This record gives sequence, C-alpha cells and structure tokens, in this order.
Amino acid sequence: MSQKIARFLAEQQPATPCLVFDVDRVEENFRALQKALPLARIYYAVKANPAAPVLSRLAGLRSHFDAASWEEVQLCLDAGAPAAAISFGNTIKKASAIARAHAAGVRMFAFDSAEELAKLAAHAPGSRVYCRVLVENAGAEWPLSRKFGTSVEMARTLLLRATELGLEPYGVSFHVGSQQTDASAWAAAIAKVAMLFTDLSDAGRPLRMLNLGGGFPTRYRDAVPAIDSFGRAIMAAMTEHFGNDLPEMVIEPGRFLVGDAGVVSAEVVLVSRRQPEDPLRWVYLDIGRFGGLAETEGEAIRYRITTPHDGAPTGPVSIAGPTCDGADILYERANYRLPLPLACGERVELHATGAYVTTYASQRFNGFAPLAEHYI
Ligand SMILES: *Cc1c(COP(=O)(O)O)cnc(C)c1O
Repeated sequence: MSQKIARFLAEQQPATPCLVFDVDRVEENFRALQKALPLARIYYAVKANPAAPVLSRLAGLRSHFDAASWEEVQLCLDAGAPAAAISFGNTIKKASAIARAHAAGVRMFAFDSAEELAKLAAHAPGSRVYCRVLVENAGAEWPLSRKFGTSVEMARTLLLRATELGLEPYGVSFHVGSQQTDASAWAAAIAKVAMLFTDLSDAGRPLRMLNLGGGFPTRYRDAVPAIDSFGRAIMAAMTEHFGNDLPEMVIEPGRFLVGDAGVVSAEVVLVSRRQPEDPLRWVYLDIGRFGGLAETEGEAIRYRITTPHDGAPTGPVSIAGPTCDGADILYERANYRLPLPLACGERVELHATGAYVTTYASQRFNGFAPLAEHYI
C-alpha cells in the first residue's frame, strides 16, 4: 500500500467498506508498461475502473482507451480523450451504441462475427475494423472462456468481406485471458495469428494492426513475473514472426494499470467458530462477493489481506461477506490464515483491489450501500 493511502486511512478513518485509490500509481504503471513495450500503443480497458480521476489522468498521459459500451465511450470523452483515441472493443454492441459512437467520431471497432460486421457496415461506415480471434487462455487466473473470438479461417473471410462492405480491414486482436501469468501465452497467440497478415497481404488487403489485448498481471497474494519479462517475450515473438515488417502494435491493459493502485478498507463484522474447539474460524467482513469482490468467484483472484495483528500467530479461516446469500463466501479452500487475536470491529485491508471491484458492487442487495470510493 502506498504511503499516501496509508496516511489517508490513518488520518481520515473513512467509513467502511471503501476503496482508497492512489491515482499516481496508475501513472507509474502506465510508464512502466510503456517502458516494457515501447512500440505498443496503450488502450486502457475502461471496464477495469472507469472512475473519472483515473480516466482523466490517463487522458493527460495521452493514453488511448478501449471502451465496451456507449456509456464508456462517453466517460472517455468527458475525461478529455479525443474520439480518435477511443476503440470500441466489445464484439457485442447495440446498433444504437455503434451509431452514437460513430457520430461522436469513434472510428475503430472490434467484431468477431459476420453479423456484427454487418452492423458496423450499417452504423459506422468507413471505420477501421479489427477481428478478434479466439486463442488459448491457459495460465490465466481469470480466463475469458469461449464467449469471444472466432477462428483464423473465419477471420480471414470476414476481413476480406470488410472491404466490400465499405469498411477498412485494419487488423486482428486476441485476449490471452485476464491475470495471465505466463508470458508464453502471448507468444503462442502471436504465432497463431501471424499467418493472417501474410494471407491478407497476398490477397491484396494488407492488415496494419495487431492488438495483443490485455491480461498483464497485477500482484495479489502470490508474486507474478515483472512486466519487463512480458515485454521481452512479446517482442521476441513479434520479431520471430514479422521480422522487420512489424505491424502497429496495440495493447489493452486493464488490471495491470489500476489493480495495485487501490486498497479496500473493511471492518470485521464477526469472528466465530462452529464448535468451541474448532480450529477453523469464520471471519465475516462488511464487503463480500456482492459488495464488489466478484472475482473471488471460484477463489480465482486471491487478494492479500492485512490486519492490525500482523506478525501474531495465525490460524486457518474461511472468509465471507455480510449478506444473506450462501454464495457470498470469498475463500474457503485457498488456505487463508489470519492472526488469532483478530476481533470483530477491527479494520482489515484487502490489497490490489483497484481493478474489477467498484463496478462489480451490487445495488443495495440486503440493503448494503455500494462501495464508497476515494481517489487521492
Ligand atoms: C477486459 C478486457 C481487457 C482488459 O483485460 P485485463 O486482463 O484487465 O488487462 C482488454 N481487452 C478486452 C477486449 C477486454 O475485454
């Protein structure tokens, strides 16, 4: 946790649960990523944290933006991003959203099906379009399943059709899965799509852009490789497959830019044992699955938790949220241990909660207010 966040928590004692977010950290992460991959243009995946202070800091750094809805496009424009810096990257868009984004000046759109391509031709004529290809998500702690992306063969057909539909076949994208800790996932994906560039070139429709998606990991309970190692693996694969003829490179980081910028401060509501002699304690916090910690589903994302008793002897715990829903359990199987003196009424911190938390908070389930947010 940054000094700034520690001081804010100590001095303000803000009501819990709340997210305290150090906006300077986003800038540090942005610069570290630029340094690791200097040839790539950064499109921040807005869904990771769409708060205005985050977007305006990034707009000030001349970041580009990957938006998933008309509302996210609007947030970027409001934050000072030019329309030309925005990509409408969701492959599933309402016709009305496409039309509004196009009217606002957005000219870069993703698709992964013939049907979506037809919508783009109708509502965003003349735009640059790129096709999302399905790639392996092995090694990702938060995989993106098979909901998105098409085959290389289908991408070839659709990109050729784009020209006939009055669109500019601009490039190809993929996403190797979120919180991807294995840099070779990008190398495998680059190898998979590289042939498309040759094919389309041979067909007289050269592609210009390769979008390597997001997935760059942030540090949770366990350490992850440094960002430079991802940059090196990606550049080695790009050179291997494209030689001196590199396409424009785009990356869409979400989690990496904002994850470790935020800390959730929460209150322990109850510490209990099912039987007096049971070594396992149940620790109930005032934030859970419905208060924003949706990525604890399947115990996939394992947040680091600190308490006022760190250093004291610990014992095994199950950790749960405050609602009356049985699914509102954060960790039962991930071998969490917390200090034995931890008591109800005390505050704990959940670290690296800057990404995919605030917007996943439910609206007043069991009456609980949405997560409070402090950007400092
Ligand atoms: C969610 C998403 C991202 C960001 O992924 P991270 O793992 O947070 O970096 C990037 N691109 C697309 C298309 C996405 O859906």
